[in-house]
Amino acid sequence: MPGPSTVLVTGAAGFIGSHTCVELLEHGHEVVLVDNYSNSSPEAVERIAKVAGRPPAAVYEADLLDRRALGEVFEGHSFDAVIHFAAKKAVGESVALPVEYYDTNVGGTTALLRAMRDHGVHRLVFSSSCSIYGDATKVPLTESDPARPTNPYATTKWLCEQVLHDVCRRLPEFSVLALRYFNPVGAHSSGLLGEVPRGVPDNVLPYIAQVAAGRLDRLRIFGDDYPTPDGTGVRDYIHVMDVAQGHRVALDHLDDERGMRVLNLGTGRGTSVRQLVTAFSDTCGTPIPFEIVARRPGDVAELVADPTAVAQAWGWTAERELTSMVDDAWRFQLLNPSGYAN
Ligand code: UDP
Repeated sequence: MPGPSTVLVTGAAGFIGSHTCVELLEHGHEVVLVDNYSNSSPEAVERIAKVAGRPPAAVYEADLLDRRALGEVFEGHSFDAVIHFAAKKAVGESVALPVEYYDTNVGGTTALLRAMRDHGVHRLVFSSSCSIYGDATKVPLTESDPARPTNPYATTKWLCEQVLHDVCRRLPEFSVLALRYFNPVGAHSSGLLGEVPRGVPDNVLPYIAQVAAGRLDRLRIFGDDYPTPDGTGVRDYIHVMDVAQGHRVALDHLDDERGMRVLNLGTGRGTSVRQLVTAFSDTCGTPIPFEIVARRPGDVAELVADPTAVAQAWGWTAERELTSMVDDAWRFQLLNPSGYAN
């Protein structure tokens, strides 16, 4: 159903959610934001409105597991589609807190599906992850490659996909696009929106940015004995604005066919941790100090997307290069040394 629509975005104040809200607002959609701010802040919502030049239709502080609060969100609006980001996302934390991960990620998704079904909303874009491919035996990865989750976070995403398959089999009025993104990084080019990790960053690019800014003393590279060209882990980094654009374009393709479809969102290009360090050093003008330490439990050698399916389905590809991912991440770090707090 191409054209402006009213979209519910869960986890809207988070890294990918906030950039996607900007993309939707800039393309004329009415956007209703829901977030429990467990890993984000209301300041992100202020920034969304500032960057997009107009406010969202409504903002709710609510947890998806709060059935009454979620019911009120659905009763207050007539949604054409839902984009579901709200989830916990740290691999290491998921190993330590599996119950919380299954509760939030799987329970949050079934709570949302219940509300959608009960209110006659049947179009969903779901935030999935390349982590479900696990320890891949080959790259690039296509959507038909087997799922081998290696940690609870990845398993929650894979389980949600199975739930969505089952819902679509039973309820043919549903159309669902699960987007398996690879490694979203970067920031909005305005420098107003970006990734704001709580505490010490888990992910490599925000970590490097804080080393470059002098907030952390050096990067610890988790292993240089992987079977990759320089021994460090290889990932398919994708600019967060490409991921945001991918969600906006997905809305236009929800009705291409009914049922459940799974698509990779990646660039098809792999970058090693060492290459990332070099790229960031070039951008910020000083070498990034690092040391090689042991592999991180649950990590895999290489994850790179085969982005052919999405290109064929939508005529769309992620276009932003690594240099713009790094430039934008560095600009955001410089302008927001303490995240959204300043
Ligand atoms: N990595 C690293 N040091 C860090 C964080 C990550 O060397 O402080 C490596 C990690 O081993 C992987 C890559 O950077 O090869 C990407 O990790 P990240 O946590 O950003 O994303 P993931 O692929 O685990 O989702």
